[in-house]
Amino acid sequence: MIRIVGGGLAGTEAAWQAARRGVPVALHEMRPVRPTAVHRTDRLAELVCSNSFRGDRLENAVGLLKAEMRQLGSLVMRVADATRVPAGGALAVDRERFAAGITEALEAEPLVTIHRGEVTGVPAAEDVRRPVIVATGPLTSEALADELTALVGHERLYFFDAISPIVHADSIDAGVVFRASRHGRQTAADEAAGRGADGAAADAAAGDYLNCPLDAGQYARFHEALRGAERAQLHDFDRTPFFEGCLPIEVMAHRGVDTLRFGPMKPVGLTDPATGRRPYAVVQLRQDNLAADHFSLVGFQTQLKWGEQARVLRMVPGLERAEFVRFGMIHRNTYINAPAVLRETWQMRTRPALFVAGQLSGVEGYVESAASGLMAGIGAAALARGETPRALPRTTALGALAHYVSHASPTHYQPTNIAFGLIPSEARPPRGRAARREALARRALSDLEAWCSTGEIVDGEPAARVS
Ligand SMILES: Cc1cc2nc3c(=O)[nH]c(=O)nc-3n(C[C@H](O)[C@H](O)[C@H](O)COP(=O)(O)OP(=O)(O)OC[C@H]3O[C@@H](n4cnc5c(N)ncnc54)[C@H](O)[C@@H]3O)c2cc1C
Repeated sequence: MIRIVGGGLAGTEAAWQAARRGVPVALHEMRPVRPTAVHRTDRLAELVCSNSFRGDRLENAVGLLKAEMRQLGSLVMRVADATRVPAGGALAVDRERFAAGITEALEAEPLVTIHRGEVTGVPAAEDVRRPVIVATGPLTSEALADELTALVGHERLYFFDAISPIVHADSIDAGVVFRASRHGRQTAADEAAGRGADGAAADAAAGDYLNCPLDAGQYARFHEALRGAERAQLHDFDRTPFFEGCLPIEVMAHRGVDTLRFGPMKPVGLTDPATGRRPYAVVQLRQDNLAADHFSLVGFQTQLKWGEQARVLRMVPGLERAEFVRFGMIHRNTYINAPAVLRETWQMRTRPALFVAGQLSGVEGYVESAASGLMAGIGAAALARGETPRALPRTTALGALAHYVSHASPTHYQPTNIAFGLIPSEARPPRGRAARREALARRALSDLEAWCSTGEIVDGEPAARVS
């Protein structure tokens, strides 16, 4: 029996993986008994901000991570694939259907029992045959976060994370915006920027984004308005560390006049059919649900006061009458200093029956969180069956992520998205970035298959044969 605390991306994937291996799971989720400041429903695996799982091709490290998760029968990937909405080369989902799909799958799983209510202390986890996974995410409730801090013996780490607004489709001016996707290839900088660059950067296909074009004058006025707009108050605002891949637009505006134009408002590869020219800057909107009546502003996370968001964003051509489904907001994002306390198998060094997974464990992003839950679920199931958890090969994206989390420098530790830079390069890599990445991806998938075929039994079958 395994106890899992937190029914988010990591906790649900961990529960699924353990159940697939025949181990009963008690999954504790505090919502709706105790809400968080950002979640809005009682569903498991609710996506708090963007509806994008980022790039879905093997040329992106996060695409490789997804391929590996699919190879290991990931529930998160299965439901994401089933609820995808058009987003070019990115995997974006209908957030309602996604969370409903995960919730229904786990409710229907006989080996998983779901308990609703806050867990206020770290479960003892003294018996290795009854392991515990803590996957309570960036918004871990205070009581549990305090206990964890005491347990890991380090000052709690955090940064601030912001959410992008969503608008009603019928409030967007169809006479102004144009449908197109960026052409050209994803750059290394885009990938490093992780979810900040997500769908827009990963996308090279046709027409899945709505684009609001700005000329130089409109951009200058918008930039000025952003700089002058009033932000929501944060206690320790002056010392606020932001996740660099997900900076609020007003913070970018303060960094320089062109920062937004080279970031989320980049017009590269786009031609406005109304003028036949490339706009000076664009605001991109991505479909947010299958009904296509909600669109989110890509990379437009913000902490402006809600009234100010409406005022400033309505200056964007095409959004003059925008009605907001949800405004952007900001929240503290908690994580532990993983390299100081975690093993490559996501077990605590000092307490092997206790696993930490998800954003709390020092990874960043939906896919990475689910991936760490997947590994912790497999490891905890092994412990519960009296086996020794095995680390994934470092040559895989999964293994590389685990290696980073457990081996990076604990001084100034920063959570990470997956990137090819975390995977060791080949002894004789082929020439050219695309060929190098392709070779790394091929090696990763084949090493994962070899890992599965030595010992992973799922649903009574060798894992390599389970899809
Ligand atoms: C403001 C904000 C914006 C973000 N935007 C993005 C984005 O656009 N894209 C992206 O990839 N990532 C984003 N993230 C990061 C995102 O939260 C993670 O990628 C992902 O949700 C982490 O998965 P998780 O399973 O670790 O945590 P979560 O998905 O948050 O799941 C944790 C679960 O634990 C529950 N819980 C907490 N405390 C307790 C307790 N004591 N007892 C029982 N249950 C508890 C919570 O209710 C929650 O359901 C954002 C985070 C924040 C805070």
